[in-house]
Amino acid sequence: MKDLMLINASVLTEKGIIEKGYIYIKNGKIAETGQASSLPQRQAEVIELHEDSIVVPGFIDVHIHGAGGADTMDATTDALATMASILPDEGTTSFLATTITQEQKAIMRALENAADYISHHNNPGKAEVLGLHLEGPFINETRKGAQPAEHITTPDIELFVRMQEASGNNIRLVTLAPEKENGCELIEYLAENDVIASVGHSDATYVQMAEAVKAGATHVTHLFNGMRGMHHRDPGVAGAALLFDELKIEMIADGIHVVPEMLRLSIRTKGSDGVILITDSMRAKCLKNGSYDLGGQEVSVADGKALLADGTLAGSILKMKDSLKNMMKFAGISLEEAVKLASENPARQLKVFDRKGSIASGKDADLVVLDQNHEVTMAFCRGVASYTR
Ligand SMILES: [Zn+2]
Repeated sequence: MKDLMLINASVLTEKGIIEKGYIYIKNGKIAETGQASSLPQRQAEVIELHEDSIVVPGFIDVHIHGAGGADTMDATTDALATMASILPDEGTTSFLATTITQEQKAIMRALENAADYISHHNNPGKAEVLGLHLEGPFINETRKGAQPAEHITTPDIELFVRMQEASGNNIRLVTLAPEKENGCELIEYLAENDVIASVGHSDATYVQMAEAVKAGATHVTHLFNGMRGMHHRDPGVAGAALLFDELKIEMIADGIHVVPEMLRLSIRTKGSDGVILITDSMRAKCLKNGSYDLGGQEVSVADGKALLADGTLAGSILKMKDSLKNMMKFAGISLEEAVKLASENPARQLKVFDRKGSIASGKDADLVVLDQNHEVTMAFCRGVASYTR
């Protein structure tokens, strides 16, 4: 692995923006940052960046099913490698490979495949698979969205334990419905075992949400989508998600899943610590419009939307870089804040902030270079150039 010196661009570090800065990358880690005018002498390949560009920490997508024709449920090395190779193009340098409600055998295969991928193929130069997000099967049929109803099951600790074993202990986040029988027991078990319990595809009332938080839920899956909405006499999952400080919220900021006004309302309520940008993208991302599979169902992709035959939204084709730009436009936040929602917040939630989620000495060199229009011009995954426009 070559050591690198990135120079001349602005650098968004943990301590603020350095104008005309440098980043020295040694053995895949950020070793030093500073002003390019006082550049230290180091044995490294120099990469001169445009002075109008800014280097930001790589984005972390905690909810992504697929991209580039591949899906986590394909359960092949190739599928995960395809996702990991294409995601740096949109600034994503690590992610949770996300499963969907399916028959148990299919989920087990996807988990076993991810376990094998993480131990043998998770190399620098590609986005890092940080583990798995198990979306379903422990959800509520009445709020299923595009999750196939026939494979939905009651929350079951014993079944989860088998799934966690199949994954090589790599399930980091579980989307579930706390109001179902044993829902809160499963949340307690997850919390005790350092797995993030996320409420999603749920019809919970506010009172049931309070119980879920008490049991240890700390996360809400794609706020407003697949849940009991907010009503003035029934705050539901959505109202509770906005009110409980214990809960971090995922948002799909494509302007389609959630309209701009609701994105603005959410960030005003939660503040910039409480929101995590995700894509929830499916395999059609980065491909042309047409017909694709999601969880054994046909999905048609056109006009930036992915829909089941009955018109239900079926994941997205959103890119992380665009979700940042949308948040800035729709909610009037700064680039620094948008990066926080895409990098620092997910890193803290996954408890990997000691090595990812910001630009600071000692952390993985997961870096994204944005031009003045906030388009990605380069991306580095653990110190290796992974994308160049
Ligand atoms: Zn999803």
